[in-house]
Amino acid sequence: MSEIILEVENLRKYFPIKTGFKQVRYLKAVDNVSFTLARGETLGVIGESGSGKTTLGKTVIRLYKPTGGKILFNGEDIAPLPRKALKKYRKKMQIVYQDPYSSLNPRMRIRDIIGRPMKIHGLASTREEITSRVKQLLEEVGLPSEVMHRFPHELSGGQRQRIAIARALATEPELIVLDEPTSALDVSIQAQILNLLKEIQRKRNTAYIFISHDIAVVSYMSDRIAVMYMGVFVETGPTREVIGEPMHPYTKMLISVVPEPDPTKKIRVTEDLGEPQLPIDPPPICRFHDRCKYKLPVCDEKAPPKIPIGESGRTVACWLYGKGKTVERN
Ligand code: SF4
Repeated sequence: MSEIILEVENLRKYFPIKTGFKQVRYLKAVDNVSFTLARGETLGVIGESGSGKTTLGKTVIRLYKPTGGKILFNGEDIAPLPRKALKKYRKKMQIVYQDPYSSLNPRMRIRDIIGRPMKIHGLASTREEITSRVKQLLEEVGLPSEVMHRFPHELSGGQRQRIAIARALATEPELIVLDEPTSALDVSIQAQILNLLKEIQRKRNTAYIFISHDIAVVSYMSDRIAVMYMGVFVETGPTREVIGEPMHPYTKMLISVVPEPDPTKKIRVTEDLGEPQLPIDPPPICRFHDRCKYKLPVCDEKAPPKIPIGESGRTVACWLYGKGKTVERN
């Protein structure tokens, strides 16, 4: 079995919202989320905008302090650690954001952008050492070394995203959160960046959490998929099973609006998605209850448990699958 580097248990991230005098409500952006990740593996996290995907990614690598739960990174719980104690873990966990332009300092040259994390974490000290490492990283992400003398605005969107990836690699991370890394790019460039990420993972055995609203992209990149809705995982499992035979009504709904690969065909929209609510103090029942066409009476009474399906580690949180019940898979 592959080595597990990340175990997340009942992770919670709540944001307080003041609603009146002494009244506080909570936006439960991540609520009791659990999963594991092996070295060299990609977990794709899919869901609509506002489902809590980005908050999950940022909380797992401790850019946000969790409200509760555990984050075992190489066996050590980093969830309760104070800021100072996190420094030694920061270099092992990196993030690449959607928009490479706003994530790169426009006043810094590429050499300094990529070299800075090396300096901060003491991975290279002399100027020559940093320059030589930057050259290697540029080569690894498919850019010529002359690029190091330029500023971000002198590069194309795809080149900037390659720089963001090189910066993330500068600290030799074991885990990278990829937060919609290709959403801001043209389709032809997207494919190049996805293939580059795959190649890097193959060489370095890095674990990825790949966040996207794009099912086609997540399917291409991920070994396993977690479907997130209003702060909770509603379905998880191997990619081919979740995409090939979605079980949770929300997963079915998402997959029903995936564009056909053939551009001459119409987009296959068979469901009216409606709008998800924000999970502000949600009642302890299924969070999908107001959009679900399969709803049972129990769905308005209590939250569904996570039900294991088969032997592949697949789970689905839906009353339709409790006590041996199944639903027609369309
Ligand atoms: Fe629909 Fe009930 Fe399943 Fe929720 S638990 S997705 S409301 S059937």
